[in-house]
Amino acid sequence: MNVPQVTHGAWLIAARARLAPVIGAEDAGREARMILGHATGLVPARLSVAAADPVPQEAQDRAEAMLARRMAREPLAQILGHWAFYGRDFTVTRDTLTPRPDTEALIDLALAQPWRRVLDLGTGTGAIAVTLLAERPEASGLASDICPAALDVARRNAARHGVAERLDLVQADWWTGIAQAAPGRFDLVVSNPPYVSAADYAGLAPEITLWEPRGALTPGGDGLAAYRVIAQGLGAQLVPGALCLVEIGADQGQAVAGLFDAAGLDDVTVHPDINGKPRVVAGRSPIGGFGAK
Ligand code: GLN
Repeated sequence: MNVPQVTHGAWLIAARARLAPVIGAEDAGREARMILGHATGLVPARLSVAAADPVPQEAQDRAEAMLARRMAREPLAQILGHWAFYGRDFTVTRDTLTPRPDTEALIDLALAQPWRRVLDLGTGTGAIAVTLLAERPEASGLASDICPAALDVARRNAARHGVAERLDLVQADWWTGIAQAAPGRFDLVVSNPPYVSAADYAGLAPEITLWEPRGALTPGGDGLAAYRVIAQGLGAQLVPGALCLVEIGADQGQAVAGLFDAAGLDDVTVHPDINGKPRVVAGRSPIGGFGAK
């Protein structure tokens, strides 16, 4: 290719100007820097230092190819192939939901409590289970997903963060397949299930609807189907007093708390994310066992 050489600074200005009408001015500068950083192998601070230097031809070709994908609304996380969550980097693919900062609230709640054995239902990238085990070296767990390709990604992330020996992975459709994995019983159950309603899903950005797995985002209908299944199956797998934490949509606190109450959980509470929106419902399996009330 015979593309004229440009400096890092000039490439960033041009890329930001092209991206702004597509993804908004606020994200355009940041994403242009992330693309050029990935293409050149330079960390953000080095990009500024290199502003007046020409971008090597091969790096420029890589950056242009990535920019073209982003202009077509492919999410940056999938273009880069990785994304940060709770201070660690996770491999992401088209088969997984990209970890969101909202979910860090669930991690904080879990890490504030004692537990040693975690079950993560619908693990996707493995971000939740891998983070929890990386943060708590004495713990172990089981993570499930219905999608084998997602389990492969979770396996890579578990290895990457040194928890593979403490995390079993199993293909399962919520509870179906968990008992067969003979996991023992858990004192923590976590899940970020698909919870977007069919109506809300239709209004999501193309980065999400065209590129992230539909099944990880919406169960259809009112968005509550996965919580109904999760709540019903808790009894068999939990030790008494086990903590249950599920991520929710901001308008689902009451409904999911109601499902947890009806399933017999104690101490059901709703907790906010970093933006102050309801994001996690917590409950405890009854000390006297399910059905004792
Ligand atoms: N918070 C995600 C979104 O709105 C949804 C995640 C999920 O359904 N578990 O994009």
